[in-house]
Amino acid sequence: MLLFKKVVDLQIYLQKKRAQGDAIGFVPTMGALHKGHLSLIAQSKADNDCTVCSIFVNPTQFNDAADLDKYPRTTAQDIEVLTAAGNDVLFLPDVEEIYPPNIDTNNPYDFGDLANVMEGAFRPGHFDGMAQVVKRLLDIVLPDVLYMGQKDFQQLTIVRNMLVQMKSTIKLVMCPIIREADGLAMSSRNARLKPEHRQAAPIIHQILQAAKAKINKASIASIKETALKALAQPDFKAEYFEIADGISLQAVKSVKESDFLVACVAVWVGEIRLIDNVILKNTL
Ligand code: AMP
Repeated sequence: MLLFKKVVDLQIYLQKKRAQGDAIGFVPTMGALHKGHLSLIAQSKADNDCTVCSIFVNPTQFNDAADLDKYPRTTAQDIEVLTAAGNDVLFLPDVEEIYPPNIDTNNPYDFGDLANVMEGAFRPGHFDGMAQVVKRLLDIVLPDVLYMGQKDFQQLTIVRNMLVQMKSTIKLVMCPIIREADGLAMSSRNARLKPEHRQAAPIIHQILQAAKAKINKASIASIKETALKALAQPDFKAEYFEIADGISLQAVKSVKESDFLVACVAVWVGEIRLIDNVILKNTL
């Protein structure tokens, strides 16, 4: 695997790849890699000639300084798993490479209501920071295909909207959520759960599955109420459990309102904030 820390070196290499007609797949991450990330790498490898993974813990998308400080950093191990996975190129920039003083990297896009609900309501500024870094990384890598996880459903939806606003030809591929055997969605944050919280956390997925089972049998209001009650576990603090249109991300009142429905949840489990979602219906 090739490793580049400097933008210019990566660009020179990828220019050559592009000139020889290689399709480039891109998987942006914040590191502390797990099987969820590796599934994106595998998909990109299957679809492209060259897969670029970036690891960059983007400070501008953290609205909580303590969360940024405590974000797991396991670079040596990440390099090992990426090499074993057959990833072609790792881009490992430092903050000055991504945000040099001579380049205006601020997010110029307005995502309207997409960015005001759910994560946007609870993490002010998060999506501006996310869009800022994704735009900057796309401008550097210039991939043919971008791979993102359904795990961060709202993030992916906002990036899809950003690609439209950018008039970009980059194709966005949504990869399914990879879960632990007990259903907990894999996340770099899971390692920070206390043992008793790790044991309790799979109930989040069970609650999402229960909502899916009831989607045509009960009202949206009652499904949400049941889910929020079930989330009231010791040391849990739910921020939201929402049933939303999968394109507009706006809450729906009835199943009939949309052909694409997703249930999204954010919950504090002890000191760790977890998110998860499940697609309830997709007849688009
Ligand atoms: P992160 O490092 O958390 O920024 O995630 C990098 C990419 O991996 C994002 O597109 C995530 O949606 C995706 N991802 C994270 N966890 C999972 C998972 N459990 N399954 C599939 N994709 C994931």
